[in-house]
Amino acid sequence: MHVIVIGSGPAGISAALYARRGGAAVTVITKGEGALASAEEIENYYGFAEPISGAELEQRGIAGAKRIGIVFETDVVMSICPLDTEAGFLVEGVQRNYKGGAVVLAAGTQRKTITVPGVREFEGRGISYCAICDAFFYRNKRVAVIGAGDYALHEAQYLLPHVVQLSLLTNGETPLVDVPEDVVLDTRKISRIVGERRVRQVLFTDGTSINVDGIFMAVGTAGSMDLARKLGVLLDDGKIIVGKHMETNVSGIYAAGDCTGGLLQIVKACYDGAEAGLAAVRYLRGQ
Ligand SMILES: Cc1cc2nc3c(=O)[nH]c(=O)nc-3n(C[C@H](O)[C@H](O)[C@H](O)COP(=O)(O)OP(=O)(O)OC[C@H]3O[C@@H](n4cnc5c(N)ncnc54)[C@H](O)[C@@H]3O)c2cc1C
Repeated sequence: MHVIVIGSGPAGISAALYARRGGAAVTVITKGEGALASAEEIENYYGFAEPISGAELEQRGIAGAKRIGIVFETDVVMSICPLDTEAGFLVEGVQRNYKGGAVVLAAGTQRKTITVPGVREFEGRGISYCAICDAFFYRNKRVAVIGAGDYALHEAQYLLPHVVQLSLLTNGETPLVDVPEDVVLDTRKISRIVGERRVRQVLFTDGTSINVDGIFMAVGTAGSMDLARKLGVLLDDGKIIVGKHMETNVSGIYAAGDCTGGLLQIVKACYDGAEAGLAAVRYLRGQ
């Protein structure tokens, strides 16, 4: 019985604690600090006579989880998919892959994109956030992936067999990965995305442009929404839709904390995590 939790914020740690105490082996995969670490002082959480910094609260949570045998892996998750040959899921990290019977998504709300005119306007009309979901629509088309790291490379590699031309637009950043030969690397800074009904062009700050039929956003690392989307988990207005026990529409996948919306506070993230951890264990026992 193995539960994988993605994220080591209050939601992820609470999910891990309840799943572990419920008898499961638990691995928390985390890329490091989340929203909590940027909170200077917390004064509205139970049990502290004096304010505590978000970073310290987070570290205490992690230390407590380690004490009861929860395993931590420092890695950046890029995608999750159901296993082909057995029940459970394959979690793809930058460092390596992991297998688990149930997964709790607790990776916060961060959704990185670029803030140039045209991005919001063309979301869903040529701008996509998920290669696995939308590659099919771009067969034999020219597409661009925006990003400079492992996640962008992951999305580019998924798109390559489908498309006729693939550009990796780093938007002024130095690429952090080796770019395959069949990907056109373009480091120019982007000024605007334009089109009519759908995306047609990316304009650069030096006055030049390229024509594209689609753009895949893969800036920074994958967030909760990106991971959910690839799994076919339903979203509503940028939040993961969950039931009473934090279950998503995909059996075995749970979500907790800021990524499910509502009160974006520690106390709610902890409650969500507890529910998700318990529900994941019940799910695995019932299999
Ligand atoms: C400045 C600030 C001040 C705040 N002050 C308060 C306050 O006073 N009181 C209060 O109750 N709340 C406060 N909050 C809100 C609170 O911090 C959040 O509600 C809470 O941290 C949400 O917990 P979470 O576990 O859902 O997400 P997060 O704490 O954001 O944790 C997300 C985790 O997911 C990991 N992660 C993300 N993507 C990946 C990936 N692809 N692979 C692996 N790991 C990944 C991150 O590294 C992190 O460990 C504040 C937030 C901010 C930003």
